[in-house]
Amino acid sequence: MAGTGVFADIIEGDVYKYYAEGEWRKSSSGKSVPIINPTTRKPQYKVQACTQEEVNKVMEAAKVAQKAWARTPLWKRADLLHRAAALLKEHKEPIAECLVKEIAKPAKDAVSEVVRSGDLISYTAEEGVRILGEGKLLVSDSFPGNERNKYCLTSKIPLGLVLAIPPFNYPVNLAVSKIGPALIAGNALVLKPPTQGAVAALHMIHCFHLAGFPKGLISCVTGKGSEIGDFLTMHPGVNCISFTGGDTGIAISKKAGMIPLQMELGGKDACIVLEDADLNLVAANIVKGGFSYSGQRCTAVKVVLVIESVADAVVEKVKSKIAKLTVGPPEDDCDITPVITESSANFIEGLIVDAKEKGATFCQEYRREGNLIWPLLLDHVRPDMRIAWEEPFGPVLPVIRISSVEEGIHHCNASNFGLQGCVFTRDINKAIMISDAMETGTVQINSAPARGPDHFPFQGLKDSGIGSQGITNSINMMTKIKSTVINLPSPSYTMG
Ligand code: NAP
Repeated sequence: MAGTGVFADIIEGDVYKYYAEGEWRKSSSGKSVPIINPTTRKPQYKVQACTQEEVNKVMEAAKVAQKAWARTPLWKRADLLHRAAALLKEHKEPIAECLVKEIAKPAKDAVSEVVRSGDLISYTAEEGVRILGEGKLLVSDSFPGNERNKYCLTSKIPLGLVLAIPPFNYPVNLAVSKIGPALIAGNALVLKPPTQGAVAALHMIHCFHLAGFPKGLISCVTGKGSEIGDFLTMHPGVNCISFTGGDTGIAISKKAGMIPLQMELGGKDACIVLEDADLNLVAANIVKGGFSYSGQRCTAVKVVLVIESVADAVVEKVKSKIAKLTVGPPEDDCDITPVITESSANFIEGLIVDAKEKGATFCQEYRREGNLIWPLLLDHVRPDMRIAWEEPFGPVLPVIRISSVEEGIHHCNASNFGLQGCVFTRDINKAIMISDAMETGTVQINSAPARGPDHFPFQGLKDSGIGSQGITNSINMMTKIKSTVINLPSPSYTMG
């Protein structure tokens, strides 16, 4: 059970502690932040509201710990990560329980998130020892005007302190996708978990504590992003920010100093369906892609662009699959569970009302109880409706009927987002040409958009992000190239 057994140290009374200098601590603020259970809409947990002073201390300790960590052999860093991965998997049940209560993640998906996170950490350790164990040798005589008298050796060195800020929808997985690469590369790590999801993240951090990482190297400060976010992201001690979330990321990128940023932000992933597509495959992917975790995924299918001649058939097939989705509490492992907050539910409802007023066809009756919104497919959506462009982050999916592929590509590219997209067709040549035309970080051919497997590159164009994730890219992003140049007194090949 959460907060008990090996996790008993991380809670005192009914408030979870924060993690600093290798210890679990209460904040001197004396204040806590409640975490509201999306299903009951009642307070479920409380976390510390950390102060700026506490953030300063965490940063100082991280600086000291990082110096020693950077000198720790790579294989030892990898060993500790493997230990943390094993502990995370061993304690998957209590962590998954937090995900069910804090973010209403369906019970089975909650367990999968924790297991996937353990696998991600192990893979990162393996990848790290390979790619950080390699460097380059360059010779000077390949550049005009030079003799072969300089040898340049390059290696990868850590950046220093990485600040990780994940969003509510994958508070464990999107935290470890930042923590693992930062640590294997020799950096210190400060985690600011999302408030909804903070308790799962604190349990996950305890697995790193139990694994035996050096004191101060990893810390986790809790509190509302709106209160401590700016102080953290503009802190002079931070050498890199890895952020996943919404528009907040755009604001952070304007305020952050001259440091590398990894930003994975929102999306409006389009699903283009051509007339020759396998319509059963299309329907299965639209429902899985659009409605898994109630549509609260960055890579959810967020708009269907279907060629008019097959639109009726696609809508019918999708409707019959939606009718089979179970709706209810996450504890019952329902497909559709309450969305994260009441304000999110209100926002989603606003998009639905706008679509109704402008004449969209409702394929199901709109139904909402508290934060629980029944899955809804909106047909005949037009570009003047908000739902055609905005990210609902909920179980509502618009269908726009198009008369040509060009029209679909145009709609996709007119979006301010550019995360992923997908195209369904049996014609691979056409699929590749459409992929090349779509201005998104990834295009899936004959499958819904997806972030995984976690070692694939993952990136968004335009307002969807800066840089690229995926295990290898994240490790590289959290390092800097260091060169050492050997200068020979005379050009090589002049002896013998
Ligand atoms: P969010 O509101 O942007 O919050 C993300 C994180 O930022 C949370 O930890 C939040 O903490 C923190 N935060 C809030 N204000 C801050 C500030 N001023 N400075 C620093 N940090 C601050 O996003 P969300 O609602 O959690 O997640 C949904 C969004 O994430 C969607 O737009 C979705 O598309 C996007 N997303 C993108 C990806 C991707 O890889 N592209 C993956 C998943 C989700 P608090 O919780 O304490 O406010």
